[in-house]
Amino acid sequence: MTINRRNFLAGASLAGACAITASHTQAEEANATKDILKADKPAKLNLSSQLGVIPGRDLAEKLAKMEKWGFDGVELGGDVVGNEKKYLDAVAKTKLKISAICWGSHNGDIVSDVVEKRQPAIDDLKRVLETAGEVKSTGVIYVPAFNGQTKLANREIRKILLDVMPAIGEHAVKCGSRVLFEPLNRNEAFFLRQLADAASICRDCKSDGVCMMGDFYHMHIEETSDLGAFISAGKYLHHVHLASRARNLPGQDERSFRDGFQGLKYIGFQDFCSLECGVKGDREAEIPKAVRFLREQWKNFFRTP
Ligand code: MG
Repeated sequence: MTINRRNFLAGASLAGACAITASHTQAEEANATKDILKADKPAKLNLSSQLGVIPGRDLAEKLAKMEKWGFDGVELGGDVVGNEKKYLDAVAKTKLKISAICWGSHNGDIVSDVVEKRQPAIDDLKRVLETAGEVKSTGVIYVPAFNGQTKLANREIRKILLDVMPAIGEHAVKCGSRVLFEPLNRNEAFFLRQLADAASICRDCKSDGVCMMGDFYHMHIEETSDLGAFISAGKYLHHVHLASRARNLPGQDERSFRDGFQGLKYIGFQDFCSLECGVKGDREAEIPKAVRFLREQWKNFFRTP
């Protein structure tokens, strides 16, 4: 076989480029691995739930049931803004803590193709971050856009986020909380579907106030491995949503949580795993059953490091 000079030079320069890329990648990989393994405390299963899942006539009754059933935290909605004292006073009567605040997408305005819509939404996100700090919440759950909420394409949305989120993240740090990107499945959002994708945006924003979460329901559709997904999220992961395959209570269908829980153990997860799901049957009986199921799944491993 003859190799002409042009092909040879092209091959040589490609080899050189690969060598540089490889050493760069190795250094990055070493750092990433160190970050993941820096977990100095064993992971904990702190169980939380959105209030809508819990039966009860009022907030006090719901929180009392959650405490009795062994929950550690409660996830609030965006209505906590302006009602901070009401929630703080109610939670103070229990041993529960406030986990995340589920805020949503603000109609996709921050990444809207209509530029004028962006700043008011940024201001509102900053406002809910102030509330999050005040009630000592782990973070504000943020979805950049549900399907149909922006005409922009994937790369354009990512660029906007990289432009605006570092400053929002610094505001979050000052408030004592953080933004939590939530990846969704393709039926709900074409942008941000896998945990590794969210983690790479967090990495590029370079702010401790820009973090992320994972939702077992969406992960079942989008991820090939719960374990791999949580390890990819690593230090950026600060909240988890729990639901079965059909988005009911954990334990109400065949969805296993053990692989994902193994991933949370790898990264030394210290935050909350929170119910966001429907319930088949009597909530008074089924929710305590789900709590027992999850604590059992946390204990049982089928894979070891
Ligand atoms: Mg969710």
